[in-house]
Amino acid sequence: MHPWNQPILDSLKARLDRLPHAILLHGPRGVGKLELAETMAQLLLCEHKDLKARPCGQCDGCRWYLAGNHPDFRRLEPEAIAKVPPAAEDEEGSEPAPAKRTKQPSLFILIEQVRELAAFLNLRSHRGALRVALVHPAEDLYPNAANALLKGLEEPPAGAVFILVSHRPSRLLPTVRSRCVAMPVPIPPRDTVLAWLNAQKTQNADRWLAFAGGAPLQALEYAGEASAWDRLLKSPSPVDDRENLERLAEALQKMAYDRAFSAFGLPPKYRTGVPAARSARAWLGFARRMGEDRLLTRHPLNPRLFSSELLGSMRDLT
Ligand SMILES: [Zn+2]
Repeated sequence: MHPWNQPILDSLKARLDRLPHAILLHGPRGVGKLELAETMAQLLLCEHKDLKARPCGQCDGCRWYLAGNHPDFRRLEPEAIAKVPPAAEDEEGSEPAPAKRTKQPSLFILIEQVRELAAFLNLRSHRGALRVALVHPAEDLYPNAANALLKGLEEPPAGAVFILVSHRPSRLLPTVRSRCVAMPVPIPPRDTVLAWLNAQKTQNADRWLAFAGGAPLQALEYAGEASAWDRLLKSPSPVDDRENLERLAEALQKMAYDRAFSAFGLPPKYRTGVPAARSARAWLGFARRMGEDRLLTRHPLNPRLFSSELLGSMRDLT
């Protein structure tokens, strides 16, 4: 877990005796929500007698959790981002599975996963304590999966705690949201983050932190891909794959916001290096549309055609 999120962990620690049965960690991308959620899960599964010493890292509960095999913990993620895709999990000693996968791994959390989770939560805890389910990112629950999860949130099995992680809580079912205790994970103070980025030997930390809107992990990622982003910002051009399409839409959105800021006479927030613009309204509109298009870039489509279209609509404005 990242040091700036310690106060949020402490606030959960202070209420270990009256735990909510569902927690919603929400905040912008790149502030360390997932790592915080993971440490919260460890906190809940730690068996140290002194509540203040949790998570201790030493007890059976902590050791199993850290080794990734605590019997009272489950993690729900889209197959595409899971650390160990289910198909790659082999019995010990068996032959490695041949690459026979024909289906793309899902970008969504599916109803089968929620049903398995429900079956697990309805069992008694192996350790006689809590059972913890981490759902990440909660906005990627397929609609019928979200409805199935809602049943669990409405009538939580005794001793079950749900931790939901979301970058976009507005995209959750309102009924799911209202069943959770919301814990916001904000952008940490700039000085704290810059010190942390410098300790990671990040080049141009200041610039990438601006481009990341203040989110530390996002800044670290951008700095690691600096040349790709520089190229994109300097001369945006059509791309051929989905990953670069996502990047392009993000770059265009940030460039549009910077133009709008400049039209208002404000310093450009993302420091994209675009020239000053005159019409703030037009660029704000473009930035908003780009936000919607960024969601579309996840769906199968023709990246070259789509990126040419995005670039064309930007040229119309300049
Ligand atoms: Zn422990």
